[in-house]
Amino acid sequence: MSQPFDLLVEPGRMDPLDLGDSAAMEFASTPEEVGRSTKWSALASELTTNMHEVIGHASGKVEERLNGNPQAAIKEQFSALEEARADLVALYFLPDPKLVEIGLISKADQHEIVLAEYESYTRNALVQLRRVREGTQIEEDHMRNRQMIVGWLMGNTKAIDVRVRDGKTYYVMTDPAAFREGVGRLLAEVQRIKAEGDYTGAKQLFEKYGVHFDPKLRDEVVARVDRLHLPSYTGFVMPKLEAIPEKTEAGSSRIDTPRGIVDVKITYPQDLTAQMLEFSAATRSLRQ
Ligand SMILES: [Zn+2]
Repeated sequence: MSQPFDLLVEPGRMDPLDLGDSAAMEFASTPEEVGRSTKWSALASELTTNMHEVIGHASGKVEERLNGNPQAAIKEQFSALEEARADLVALYFLPDPKLVEIGLISKADQHEIVLAEYESYTRNALVQLRRVREGTQIEEDHMRNRQMIVGWLMGNTKAIDVRVRDGKTYYVMTDPAAFREGVGRLLAEVQRIKAEGDYTGAKQLFEKYGVHFDPKLRDEVVARVDRLHLPSYTGFVMPKLEAIPEKTEAGSSRIDTPRGIVDVKITYPQDLTAQMLEFSAATRSLRQ
Protein backbone atom coordinates (compact mmCIF):
# COMPACT_ATOMS: atom_id res chain seq x y z
CA MET A 1 0.00 0.00 0.00
CA SER A 2 2.97 2.23 0.52
CA GLN A 3 3.71 2.01 -3.19
CA PRO A 4 0.48 3.02 -4.92
CA PHE A 5 1.96 2.74 -8.39
CA ASP A 6 3.59 -0.60 -7.87
CA LEU A 7 1.66 -2.13 -10.73
CA LEU A 8 3.03 0.50 -13.05
CA VAL A 9 6.60 0.38 -11.89
CA GLU A 10 7.29 -3.25 -11.10
CA PRO A 11 10.43 -3.66 -13.18
CA GLY A 12 11.38 -6.89 -11.50
CA ARG A 13 8.34 -8.90 -12.37
CA MET A 14 8.06 -7.22 -15.74
CA ASP A 15 11.36 -8.72 -16.62
CA PRO A 16 10.66 -12.27 -17.75
CA LEU A 17 12.62 -14.40 -15.33
CA ASP A 18 13.41 -16.82 -18.10
CA LEU A 19 14.08 -14.67 -21.12
CA GLY A 20 12.49 -17.38 -23.18
CA ASP A 21 13.68 -20.80 -24.12
CA SER A 22 17.31 -20.02 -24.89
CA ALA A 23 18.05 -18.82 -21.36
CA ALA A 24 16.21 -21.77 -19.85
CA MET A 25 18.21 -24.12 -22.08
CA GLU A 26 21.45 -22.51 -20.97
CA PHE A 27 20.74 -22.26 -17.24
CA ALA A 28 18.32 -25.11 -16.50
CA SER A 29 20.08 -28.27 -15.43
CA THR A 30 17.92 -30.93 -17.09
CA PRO A 31 15.75 -31.27 -20.23
CA GLU A 32 12.74 -31.77 -17.90
CA GLU A 33 13.39 -28.40 -16.30
CA VAL A 34 13.62 -26.76 -19.73
CA GLY A 35 10.35 -28.44 -20.73
CA ARG A 36 8.53 -27.21 -17.62
CA SER A 37 9.84 -23.72 -18.19
CA THR A 38 8.69 -23.67 -21.80
CA LYS A 39 5.28 -25.02 -20.92
CA TRP A 40 4.48 -23.18 -17.70
CA SER A 41 6.72 -20.21 -16.97
CA ALA A 42 4.45 -17.60 -18.58
CA LEU A 43 1.39 -18.74 -16.62
CA ALA A 44 3.35 -19.32 -13.40
CA SER A 45 4.83 -15.86 -13.67
CA GLU A 46 1.41 -14.25 -14.20
CA LEU A 47 -0.04 -16.06 -11.19
CA THR A 48 2.84 -15.10 -8.91
CA THR A 49 2.93 -11.51 -10.18
CA ASN A 50 -0.75 -11.08 -9.42
CA MET A 51 -0.42 -12.62 -5.96
CA HIS A 52 2.69 -10.49 -5.34
CA GLU A 53 0.67 -7.34 -6.04
CA VAL A 54 -2.68 -8.20 -4.51
CA ILE A 55 -2.21 -10.52 -1.52
CA GLY A 56 1.50 -9.66 -1.16
CA HIS A 57 1.86 -5.88 -0.97
CA ALA A 58 -1.68 -5.50 0.32
CA SER A 59 -1.30 -7.80 3.34
CA GLY A 60 0.32 -7.70 6.75
CA LYS A 61 -0.01 -5.52 9.84
CA VAL A 62 2.60 -3.36 11.50
CA GLU A 63 2.95 -2.30 15.13
CA GLU A 64 0.88 0.72 16.08
CA ARG A 65 3.86 2.70 17.31
CA LEU A 66 5.14 2.80 13.70
CA ASN A 67 2.07 4.89 12.73
CA GLY A 68 1.59 2.94 9.52
CA ASN A 69 5.01 4.05 8.32
CA PRO A 70 7.55 1.23 8.67
CA GLN A 71 9.60 2.89 5.89
CA ALA A 72 10.74 5.54 8.36
CA ALA A 73 12.25 2.85 10.61
CA ILE A 74 13.65 0.53 7.95
CA LYS A 75 14.99 3.33 5.74
CA GLU A 76 17.04 2.33 2.67
CA GLN A 77 16.40 -1.37 3.33
CA PHE A 78 12.63 -0.97 3.18
CA SER A 79 11.91 -1.27 -0.51
CA ALA A 80 13.86 -4.50 -1.04
CA LEU A 81 12.35 -5.94 2.16
CA GLU A 82 8.82 -5.12 0.98
CA GLU A 83 9.47 -6.63 -2.46
CA ALA A 84 10.78 -9.76 -0.74
CA ARG A 85 7.66 -9.96 1.42
CA ALA A 86 5.40 -9.73 -1.65
CA ASP A 87 7.41 -12.36 -3.58
CA LEU A 88 7.40 -14.70 -0.58
CA VAL A 89 3.61 -14.46 -0.23
CA ALA A 90 3.24 -15.40 -3.92
CA LEU A 91 5.74 -18.27 -3.73
CA TYR A 92 4.12 -19.59 -0.58
CA PHE A 93 0.58 -19.56 -1.92
CA LEU A 94 1.26 -20.89 -5.44
CA PRO A 95 0.84 -24.53 -4.24
CA ASP A 96 -2.28 -23.67 -2.23
CA PRO A 97 -5.46 -25.64 -3.09
CA LYS A 98 -7.36 -22.32 -3.20
CA LEU A 99 -5.95 -21.65 -6.69
CA VAL A 100 -7.61 -24.84 -7.94
CA GLU A 101 -10.78 -24.17 -5.96
CA ILE A 102 -11.33 -20.77 -7.58
CA GLY A 103 -10.62 -22.20 -11.03
CA LEU A 104 -7.31 -20.50 -11.86
CA ILE A 105 -5.47 -23.75 -12.59
CA SER A 106 -6.31 -27.43 -12.69
CA LYS A 107 -5.34 -29.75 -9.86
CA ALA A 108 -3.50 -31.98 -12.33
CA ASP A 109 -1.24 -29.12 -13.45
CA GLN A 110 -0.55 -27.42 -10.13
CA HIS A 111 2.51 -29.46 -9.15
CA GLU A 112 4.24 -28.82 -12.50
CA ILE A 113 3.40 -25.11 -12.33
CA VAL A 114 4.90 -24.90 -8.83
CA LEU A 115 8.03 -26.72 -9.98
CA ALA A 116 8.39 -24.41 -13.00
CA GLU A 117 8.10 -21.30 -10.84
CA TYR A 118 10.40 -22.49 -8.04
CA GLU A 119 12.97 -23.59 -10.62
CA SER A 120 12.89 -20.37 -12.59
CA TYR A 121 12.99 -18.28 -9.40
CA THR A 122 16.06 -20.20 -8.32
CA ARG A 123 17.79 -19.90 -11.71
CA ASN A 124 17.09 -16.21 -11.81
CA ALA A 125 19.47 -15.53 -8.91
CA LEU A 126 22.19 -16.66 -11.29
CA VAL A 127 20.84 -15.21 -14.55
CA GLN A 128 20.19 -11.74 -13.10
CA LEU A 129 23.88 -11.26 -12.33
CA ARG A 130 24.28 -10.45 -16.05
CA ARG A 131 22.92 -7.00 -15.29
CA VAL A 132 25.64 -6.02 -12.84
CA ARG A 133 28.63 -5.93 -15.13
CA GLU A 134 30.75 -3.75 -12.87
CA GLY A 135 31.45 -4.01 -9.17
CA THR A 136 30.32 -6.76 -6.82
CA GLN A 137 27.09 -5.34 -5.40
CA ILE A 138 23.46 -5.49 -6.44
CA GLU A 139 21.70 -2.12 -6.12
CA GLU A 140 18.20 -2.52 -7.60
CA ASP A 141 15.60 -3.47 -4.96
CA HIS A 142 13.78 -6.26 -6.82
CA MET A 143 17.12 -7.83 -7.69
CA ARG A 144 18.31 -7.59 -4.07
CA ASN A 145 15.07 -9.16 -2.90
CA ARG A 146 15.42 -12.13 -5.26
CA GLN A 147 19.09 -12.63 -4.50
CA MET A 148 18.29 -12.53 -0.79
CA ILE A 149 15.48 -15.09 -1.01
CA VAL A 150 17.47 -17.61 -3.05
CA GLY A 151 20.62 -17.02 -0.98
CA TRP A 152 18.68 -17.48 2.25
CA LEU A 153 17.07 -20.69 0.96
CA MET A 154 20.51 -22.00 -0.02
CA GLY A 155 21.87 -21.21 3.43
CA ASN A 156 18.92 -22.42 5.49
CA THR A 157 17.20 -25.26 3.63
CA LYS A 158 18.05 -28.29 1.50
CA ALA A 159 15.88 -27.06 -1.38
CA ILE A 160 18.63 -25.85 -3.73
CA ASP A 161 21.83 -27.49 -4.98
CA VAL A 162 24.70 -25.66 -6.65
CA ARG A 163 26.17 -27.86 -9.37
CA VAL A 164 29.06 -27.26 -11.75
CA ARG A 165 29.20 -29.13 -15.05
CA ASP A 166 31.70 -28.46 -17.84
CA GLY A 167 32.72 -25.25 -16.11
CA LYS A 168 29.12 -24.01 -15.94
CA THR A 169 27.31 -23.28 -12.68
CA TYR A 170 23.70 -24.36 -12.17
CA TYR A 171 21.33 -23.46 -9.34
CA VAL A 172 19.08 -26.49 -9.11
CA MET A 173 15.83 -26.53 -7.15
CA THR A 174 15.66 -30.12 -5.87
CA ASP A 175 12.93 -30.18 -3.24
CA PRO A 176 9.73 -28.13 -3.67
CA ALA A 177 8.41 -29.05 -0.20
CA ALA A 178 11.61 -27.84 1.45
CA PHE A 179 11.54 -24.73 -0.77
CA ARG A 180 8.02 -23.88 0.33
CA GLU A 181 8.72 -24.59 3.99
CA GLY A 182 11.75 -22.29 3.80
CA VAL A 183 9.75 -19.59 2.04
CA GLY A 184 7.19 -19.76 4.87
CA ARG A 185 9.92 -19.44 7.52
CA LEU A 186 11.59 -16.54 5.75
CA LEU A 187 8.23 -14.82 5.17
CA ALA A 188 7.56 -14.97 8.92
CA GLU A 189 10.92 -13.31 9.60
CA VAL A 190 10.53 -10.68 6.87
CA GLN A 191 7.03 -9.85 8.13
CA ARG A 192 8.37 -9.60 11.69
CA ILE A 193 11.10 -7.19 10.54
CA LYS A 194 8.58 -4.99 8.76
CA ALA A 195 6.00 -5.13 11.56
CA GLU A 196 8.56 -4.22 14.25
CA GLY A 197 10.48 -1.73 12.11
CA ASP A 198 13.65 -3.73 12.79
CA TYR A 199 16.26 -1.82 10.74
CA THR A 200 19.20 -3.91 11.95
CA GLY A 201 17.41 -7.15 11.13
CA ALA A 202 16.67 -5.94 7.59
CA LYS A 203 20.20 -4.71 7.01
CA GLN A 204 21.76 -7.95 8.24
CA LEU A 205 19.47 -10.05 6.06
CA PHE A 206 20.35 -8.14 2.88
CA GLU A 207 24.03 -7.70 3.66
CA LYS A 208 24.36 -11.43 4.22
CA TYR A 209 22.25 -12.74 1.34
CA GLY A 210 21.04 -9.99 -1.01
CA VAL A 211 23.74 -7.48 -1.90
CA HIS A 212 27.12 -9.07 -2.48
CA PHE A 213 28.08 -11.66 -5.06
CA ASP A 214 31.14 -13.46 -6.37
CA PRO A 215 32.50 -11.56 -9.39
CA LYS A 216 33.90 -14.79 -10.91
CA LEU A 217 30.41 -16.24 -11.00
CA ARG A 218 29.07 -13.02 -12.57
CA ASP A 219 31.79 -13.14 -15.24
CA GLU A 220 30.80 -16.72 -16.05
CA VAL A 221 27.11 -15.74 -16.34
CA VAL A 222 27.93 -12.72 -18.52
CA ALA A 223 29.98 -14.89 -20.87
CA ARG A 224 27.13 -17.39 -21.13
CA VAL A 225 24.42 -14.82 -21.87
CA ASP A 226 26.63 -12.91 -24.30
CA ARG A 227 27.18 -16.07 -26.34
CA LEU A 228 23.39 -16.36 -26.58
CA HIS A 229 22.89 -12.64 -27.32
CA LEU A 230 20.39 -12.36 -24.50
CA PRO A 231 19.29 -8.84 -23.53
CA SER A 232 19.98 -7.61 -20.00
CA TYR A 233 16.75 -5.63 -19.84
CA THR A 234 13.40 -5.89 -21.56
CA GLY A 235 10.84 -3.08 -21.94
CA PHE A 236 7.07 -3.50 -22.04
CA VAL A 237 4.22 -1.38 -23.32
CA MET A 238 1.32 -2.13 -21.05
CA PRO A 239 -2.33 -2.11 -22.06
CA LYS A 240 -4.13 1.08 -21.14
CA LEU A 241 -7.08 0.60 -18.80
CA GLU A 242 -9.83 3.21 -18.72
CA ALA A 243 -12.65 3.13 -16.23
CA ILE A 244 -16.09 3.44 -17.83
CA PRO A 245 -18.22 5.30 -15.31
CA GLU A 246 -21.83 4.61 -14.51
CA LYS A 247 -24.13 7.21 -16.05
CA THR A 248 -26.25 8.98 -13.49
CA GLU A 249 -29.79 10.12 -14.22
CA ALA A 250 -28.75 13.67 -14.95
CA GLY A 251 -26.37 12.35 -17.60
CA SER A 252 -23.28 13.26 -15.65
CA SER A 253 -20.92 10.51 -14.59
CA ARG A 254 -19.02 9.79 -11.45
CA ILE A 255 -16.02 7.55 -10.93
CA ASP A 256 -15.17 8.58 -7.40
CA THR A 257 -16.37 5.30 -5.89
CA PRO A 258 -15.75 1.74 -7.07
CA ARG A 259 -19.52 1.34 -7.38
CA GLY A 260 -19.47 4.05 -10.03
CA ILE A 261 -17.43 1.97 -12.51
CA VAL A 262 -19.45 -0.28 -14.80
CA ASP A 263 -16.74 -1.43 -17.20
CA VAL A 264 -13.07 -1.11 -18.07
CA LYS A 265 -11.92 -0.36 -21.59
CA ILE A 266 -8.61 -1.90 -22.69
CA THR A 267 -6.53 -0.42 -25.47
CA TYR A 268 -2.99 -1.17 -26.64
CA PRO A 269 -1.10 2.06 -27.25
CA GLN A 270 2.15 0.41 -28.52
CA ASP A 271 4.24 3.50 -27.78
CA LEU A 272 6.74 3.07 -24.94
CA THR A 273 7.87 6.70 -24.86
CA ALA A 274 4.34 8.10 -24.69
CA GLN A 275 3.41 5.61 -21.97
CA MET A 276 6.47 6.32 -19.83
CA LEU A 277 5.84 10.08 -20.07
CA GLU A 278 2.20 9.52 -19.11
CA PHE A 279 3.20 7.45 -16.04
CA SER A 280 5.78 10.06 -15.16
CA ALA A 281 3.17 12.83 -15.25
CA ALA A 282 0.69 10.75 -13.23
CA THR A 283 3.22 10.12 -10.45
CA ARG A 284 4.94 13.51 -10.45
CA SER A 285 3.33 14.69 -7.23
CA LEU A 286 4.75 11.65 -5.39
CA ARG A 287 8.30 12.71 -6.26
CA GLN A 288 8.04 16.30 -5.05
ZN1 LIG B 1 6.30 -5.27 -5.77
